[in-house]
Amino acid sequence: MSTAQQPLHPSLDQIASCVSGYDPDALPVASAQQVIRSFIRPVDSVEKLAIRAALDRVLAADIISPINVPAHDNSAMDGYAIRSADLDDKDVSLQVVGTAYAGRAFSGDVGPGQCLRIMTGAIMPPACDTVVPQEFTRDGNAQSVTIPAGVVRAGDNRRFAGEDLAAGSIALAKGKILRPADLGLLASLGIAEVPVQRRLRVAFFSTGDELRSIGEALDEGCVYDSNRYTLYGMLRRLGCDIVDMGVVRDEPQALEEAFRSAAENADAIITSGGVSVGAADYTRHMMAKLGDVCFWKIGMRPGRPMAFGHISSGGRGAYLFGLPGNPVAVMVTFYFFAREALLHMMGASPAPLPLMSVVSSSAIRKKPGRTEYQRAILSTAADGSRSVSITGAQGSGILRSMSEANCMVVLHHEQGQVAAGDMVDVILFEGLL
Ligand code: AMP
Ligand code: MG
Repeated sequence: MSTAQQPLHPSLDQIASCVSGYDPDALPVASAQQVIRSFIRPVDSVEKLAIRAALDRVLAADIISPINVPAHDNSAMDGYAIRSADLDDKDVSLQVVGTAYAGRAFSGDVGPGQCLRIMTGAIMPPACDTVVPQEFTRDGNAQSVTIPAGVVRAGDNRRFAGEDLAAGSIALAKGKILRPADLGLLASLGIAEVPVQRRLRVAFFSTGDELRSIGEALDEGCVYDSNRYTLYGMLRRLGCDIVDMGVVRDEPQALEEAFRSAAENADAIITSGGVSVGAADYTRHMMAKLGDVCFWKIGMRPGRPMAFGHISSGGRGAYLFGLPGNPVAVMVTFYFFAREALLHMMGASPAPLPLMSVVSSSAIRKKPGRTEYQRAILSTAADGSRSVSITGAQGSGILRSMSEANCMVVLHHEQGQVAAGDMVDVILFEGLL
């Protein structure tokens, strides 16, 4: 089940030495992403699934089209299939020799001066190269029809065999996450089953003696553990199998047991809390003891402290993401570090998250030298113009503003103050598919 250990793998130190100006105590977001990308290896395990069950899964091999789609040249419209040589610069009248329906071809010939009534999707007779849509014609009856001058050009409204997919070509590439259109495409090829990567198994737990689980009494100074629920949601959306290990006390033995069990049973481990410098806990110590882990202070807001690496136990191992404890910091570090890494582990080839450039309706304070992710609301005015405004307090513990937001404004590493009316980059929370 678990990923292979990492003997063939360069160590984090070796990888970090390739990152120019690497400083774990002041690491730009892009450099941290680069180290993670170089360190992560995909999990190599494939299963075959019926195409419906393969929705949102990662394709494990190229799918080669076994057939041409469509199989024949056919009509894109209801109308008349004609020989374009018969067209003239004045109206022409053609003799109708029969009708072709979708799934029911016409078997006769279409000679000069003749045409065939044809329905959308019906096979084009070999002699014809053009379809005149029904609504452009005049005086049509069972015997003849008039084609007014200039209503079509040669080749119009004909679909070619294989124009959707040619036999022998790659219909879907390995690494693609299968979306609804892909299921349809596979069905159009008559393919019933596809090889997909097995689901990634991700274990997670929260650390912190102040944390209480739902249902427990909230003692003085304590908070309910919300991170396990946000992580559950984000991991489910990513299509992972999840192992919720609960809250682990800040105590060496409990932590060691939790890390070992996670390393033995999962491909990746996500923890929250206990990675900041002053943290009075054993989490950092235990991560370092069990594997190759680096501790970063990332030039970002929210989410500065983070641990990343690989830990092992009993001959098995898992990648580790030690996310900060603050609820918004957990989400931001998950989205901008763990998400892409987990997709790579799943064998997917994720495209960079699309950014949209939008007018900021207010000024935003920002210092160059760190990346900021500000929770925001993108709205569209009655005149159709779009603008974005940040959702008030941006403290990394304020989860409400994350819940109210529909996007984040990404203020890049080198970027400085934003004035009202400036364009800013925005990343949307919801996509179409
Ligand atoms: P830490 O990174 O452990 O220093 O935690 C930073 C802040 O996040 C503290 O205020 C914690 O109480 C809070 N925090 C840590 N873990 C969680 C959690 N699982 N759910 C909610 N808040 C948390
Ligand atoms: Mg803590």
